[in-house]
Amino acid sequence: MFDRASVVTPGGVNSPVRAFRAVGGTPRFMVSGTGPYLTDADGREYVDLVCSWGPMILGHSHPEVIAAVQEAVSRGTSFGTPGEGEVALAEEIVARIEPVEQVRLVSSGTEATMSAIRLARGFTGRAKVVKFAGCYHGHVDALLAAAGSGVATFGLPDTPGVTGATAGDTVVLPYNDLDAVRAAFAAHPGEIACVITEASPGNMGVVPPADGFNAGLKELCAANGALYISDEVMTGFRTSKAGWYGVDGVRPDLMTFGKVMGGGFPAAAFGGRRDVMAHLAPAGPVYQAGTLSGNPVATAAGLAQLRLLDDAAYARIDAVSAELRSLVGGALTKEGVAHTVSAASNMFSVFFTDEPVRDYDDAKKQDVFRFTAFFHAMLEQGVYLPPSAFESWFVSTAHDERAVERIAAALPAAARAAAEATA
Ligand code: PLP
Repeated sequence: MFDRASVVTPGGVNSPVRAFRAVGGTPRFMVSGTGPYLTDADGREYVDLVCSWGPMILGHSHPEVIAAVQEAVSRGTSFGTPGEGEVALAEEIVARIEPVEQVRLVSSGTEATMSAIRLARGFTGRAKVVKFAGCYHGHVDALLAAAGSGVATFGLPDTPGVTGATAGDTVVLPYNDLDAVRAAFAAHPGEIACVITEASPGNMGVVPPADGFNAGLKELCAANGALYISDEVMTGFRTSKAGWYGVDGVRPDLMTFGKVMGGGFPAAAFGGRRDVMAHLAPAGPVYQAGTLSGNPVATAAGLAQLRLLDDAAYARIDAVSAELRSLVGGALTKEGVAHTVSAASNMFSVFFTDEPVRDYDDAKKQDVFRFTAFFHAMLEQGVYLPPSAFESWFVSTAHDERAVERIAAALPAAARAAAEATA
């Protein structure tokens, strides 16, 4: 299948990190998913710790989500008009996340962040955008400077195709460094439209904000007339009922969402202050649109998933995450492998270093070759981890004791492989 794919698709994949280039080997082609398990084209079953890079927070093929999708599909798949489903999904988001007074639905996280920075520029009449090294906000031209995720995996400092003019309006700063943000505002008075940050980064591995970092960003933005944009595409509806906002309570001007809110379909959103959102077309002059925005099938899936995410669901995800963190840490300690298990609520990843990781430079100092050995040993034993040392691991409500036991059984050999790996 990979050979076939490589003939008709660049690199054989439709999103780079899926290609296993960072870890070597051939990517698995999955044909079905049920609960915490994926089955590949050769009939092998894996415990899935990627969960489609976040969206599948109830596991695969959750019966109530599937039923909602089937019911929606039976009524038609796209109308290009307003519909009840998109209103209900917007109401659910607004009800859960207090700073979001209005929301606009789009089809991907990339579209959400791209639209949010356009709106911030339109609202403030300023050009510059501040972002942090190692934070990934999708493949938006202006935000691809020093991004994490696939860009981290490939070690590209930047990408060909982004013009100097575009990159020139992006100021990239080290994460968790408020002094750098203060200095940027001083260097560019009246020019910075917004600061965009992952609410709690997961795209350089999991590197939570230091105490007071997000609050400091908010304060500096407010003092300098810039908007504070919290990118919750990954953390939204995952790290708590109200995402990372539900954890740290820092009130953004704009927020972006995706992944979980689409229930495995292409649905994403940006929203926030009513006075800022009022600048968006057709209410205001900042243009933004989409043929499939608010798609009835995607919104039905997203709404069904969100409605199932109650306190008990988050308690379950948090507990599974804590258990896995302890099992992974224990196995690596037993083999004497230097590591740090880094967590932000139920998102976590393992850095193969025992030095503290506070930013992208720290994350890059880990022994990536040990992760590679660990990854392949887990894969061989039927556990599917993100194929990169710079990604969050994800669990779901469907990860039950049997799934955890299968992971636990695979860990000793994987930890040994990591210990024995050479650079
Ligand atoms: N923002 C964050 C924090 C993300 O993690 C991602 C994707 O991983 C995006 C934006 C882009 O979302 P999408 O892949 O849906 O375009």
